[in-house]
Amino acid sequence: MQIYQVIVVGAGAAGFMSAISAKRAGADQVLLLDASERPGTKIVMSGGGRCNLTNAELDFRDFRGESANGIKKVILQFPPEKVIQFFNSLGVKTKTEEPWHKIFPVSDSAQTVLSTLLNEVRKNHVNLKFPEKVISFSFDKSLWKVTTQNEVFLGRSLVLAPGGFSYPHTGSDGVLWKVLEKLGVSLVSPKAALTTLKCSDQDLHTLSGLTIWCRFRVRVDGKVIFNQENSLLFTHDGLSGPGILNASEWFTGNDLKKPAELSISFFPNENENEIRDWLGSEIKKTPASKLIRLLKTKLPERLAVALENRLDSPDISIGHLSKEKRNKLIELLTDFKPVISGHSGYKKAEVTAGGIPFSELNLATMEFKRFPGLYAAGEIVNVHGIIGGYNFQWAWSSGWVAGKSASEKINGG
Ligand SMILES: Cc1cc2nc3c(=O)[nH]c(=O)nc-3n(C[C@H](O)[C@H](O)[C@H](O)COP(=O)(O)OP(=O)(O)OC[C@H]3O[C@@H](n4cnc5c(N)ncnc54)[C@H](O)[C@@H]3O)c2cc1C
Repeated sequence: MQIYQVIVVGAGAAGFMSAISAKRAGADQVLLLDASERPGTKIVMSGGGRCNLTNAELDFRDFRGESANGIKKVILQFPPEKVIQFFNSLGVKTKTEEPWHKIFPVSDSAQTVLSTLLNEVRKNHVNLKFPEKVISFSFDKSLWKVTTQNEVFLGRSLVLAPGGFSYPHTGSDGVLWKVLEKLGVSLVSPKAALTTLKCSDQDLHTLSGLTIWCRFRVRVDGKVIFNQENSLLFTHDGLSGPGILNASEWFTGNDLKKPAELSISFFPNENENEIRDWLGSEIKKTPASKLIRLLKTKLPERLAVALENRLDSPDISIGHLSKEKRNKLIELLTDFKPVISGHSGYKKAEVTAGGIPFSELNLATMEFKRFPGLYAAGEIVNVHGIIGGYNFQWAWSSGWVAGKSASEKINGG
């Protein structure tokens, strides 16, 4: 029976990179297994079909899960510059999109990225086999025995890159999470992240399709734990857009001691006092002016109407706003609190939060401390980031480190 030097499970971003880096670091026989009929599907779907490869100005505070310092330790071994160089050298020209410093292929096609990875895997004689769903693995007589639904494979080292639970039709359904738990690895409980939120305020459903730039805050027990300017998209049953996706993970699990509260300011660059002063001066200047007219000067018409309806004072002039109504209006404009009634779960989650904690791994190599020869990379590790290329960067870096280390170890490097 053939013995592979490195077996990689999962041909997603992390697995492709692991297999390529294992080869480049000298491994002879590398096997890449994927459960899906079409490996790399998530890459093709990513970035609205354009694949936001990485970010030119990573802020490590925008990663979540494990500590920023630990994440930095892994990423700096294969940072965004190296990722860009890697793809450029394979013919994928890249460009930066501001204001978020997102890196995309110039082709604006995620398919370019997947085709390039598939070519590189072929060129390096990585044995890519699919559909081969791994159902278990074990260590026996100094070899890793990997059992799929069809076959058994043997390898000197094993890299796990099977992703999480998000978009399960792409092949990532969490089977290997259960195998790890059986091995005694205490995984951080998974939950959907970067997903859309459902909201029970019926009046907001009528705003479906409307996009607006806002400030988002998430508070837990009165303390602001998330604060970001970004865009909001109203949907037929709730809220979406990058700002909501980034804030969503505080509403998808039951890991918080106190419930989280979402607050939206439709005036992202002005604080409550500035809005109060603006309203006061408008009242002084033109007290007979209708409130709806004033709101429409600052907000899209449909939103202005919805907010005025919430004041329950139809057709009111600004001069007639009582102190109580003024306060209520200012709160609606700068501290709007939609009632979050649910979320879209893994079906629409761009990533899974949770997974293998850093305490199990040597961050210089991504090898398990307790299981020599076993490595992990990508979304199965307890790291994820905000929208903007953070998640692929984690997958490329951790994949690179795991594959290279697995190869160097068996080759005595
Ligand atoms: C719609 C969408 C858009 C996104 N856009 C972006 C973006 O533009 N930029 C960005 O940075 N991030 C983006 N992300 C997130 C990014 O795609 C993921 O973080 C990244 O793909 C994770 O890579 P991975 O290799 O760890 O896991 P995955 O990409 O999930 O790959 C895991 C692979 O393992 C295989 N597998 C699973 N279990 C087994 C098993 N038991 N046996 C064999 N194979 C198995 C699966 O079939 C799959 O191919 C997006 C995600 C989605 C869903």
